[in-house]
Amino acid sequence: MADGLVFDIQHFCLDDGPGIRTTVFFKGCPLRCIWCHNAEGLSAEPQLYYASEKCTGCRKCADVCPENVHSFRETGHDVDFLSCVSCGSCADVCGREALRIAGRRMSAREVLKDVLADKPFYDQSEGGVTLSGGEPLMQGDFACELAELAKINGLHVCVETSGYCTPQTLRQILPFTDLFLFDFKHHDPQLHRRFTGVDNRRILENLRFLSENGKELILRCPIIPGCNDSEPHYRAIAELSEELCGVTAVHIEPYHPFGLSKYRAVGRKAAYVRDELLDRRDAERIRDHIASLTAKPVVIS
Ligand code: SF4
Ligand code: SF4
Repeated sequence: MADGLVFDIQHFCLDDGPGIRTTVFFKGCPLRCIWCHNAEGLSAEPQLYYASEKCTGCRKCADVCPENVHSFRETGHDVDFLSCVSCGSCADVCGREALRIAGRRMSAREVLKDVLADKPFYDQSEGGVTLSGGEPLMQGDFACELAELAKINGLHVCVETSGYCTPQTLRQILPFTDLFLFDFKHHDPQLHRRFTGVDNRRILENLRFLSENGKELILRCPIIPGCNDSEPHYRAIAELSEELCGVTAVHIEPYHPFGLSKYRAVGRKAAYVRDELLDRRDAERIRDHIASLTAKPVVIS
């Protein structure tokens, strides 16, 4: 029985696999994609999350914090994230929900109980549960136990992954997964390392392993201006989708800046700051171009 660290469980999700789904967000990721929009998913430890827009300046948090993390000046409420020990005392007294600890230890059975509450909706819509993150396969034993329990209870299971995990973890979770939502971030090994912090060799080996084992795959391709919005990458996406027999679709994920506030909320600096979304017409043009190079369906997600 493995415990895991989860930073969110979202119900009624429509973009994380077929039908209506519950998405479980695992905390911790071995990659550092510069455009990541889930800043609270990066660290593998519980951490303070401060939503400044909800704060009224009541100062109750400063009264209870043993580490003097909260201070108040003319400029407003300062949070010294580096001194925080994630005890949660400030979150307990904040009546505005401006503070919380992102990351909760849960057993796979506890998560499953929450997920099963929506089973009638999955049954009606052919939905299920999606393991996401962060990187769910970084907590391999926990992810496998949850996927196995979900299958025992008749649920459709998706795993949303960067593909950066050990072959053993992949082999272990394979029988309990119906669909892998597999990221393809950059075809070039050096640029992959530059933009994500890791080489793509292991990722591509894992992708091929899943394909050879008959797994259904959707390639999820973030399109990030200045990083991978290039003709060679579009061609590589199309070639990969053609080459791998398990790929049933390509999902284009245009850049959006909605995650930037989360960096401030966990006291991190965003590495890629661009305020505009990728223009819808540009995204459609990229979609159509990739679609002209492969027989697989290409959609914007
Ligand atoms: S307790 Fe909450 S609302 Fe009050 S100052 Fe602290 S963060 Fe702001
Ligand atoms: S979680 Fe604990 S240590 Fe961190 S700011 Fe809140 S009270 Fe202080």
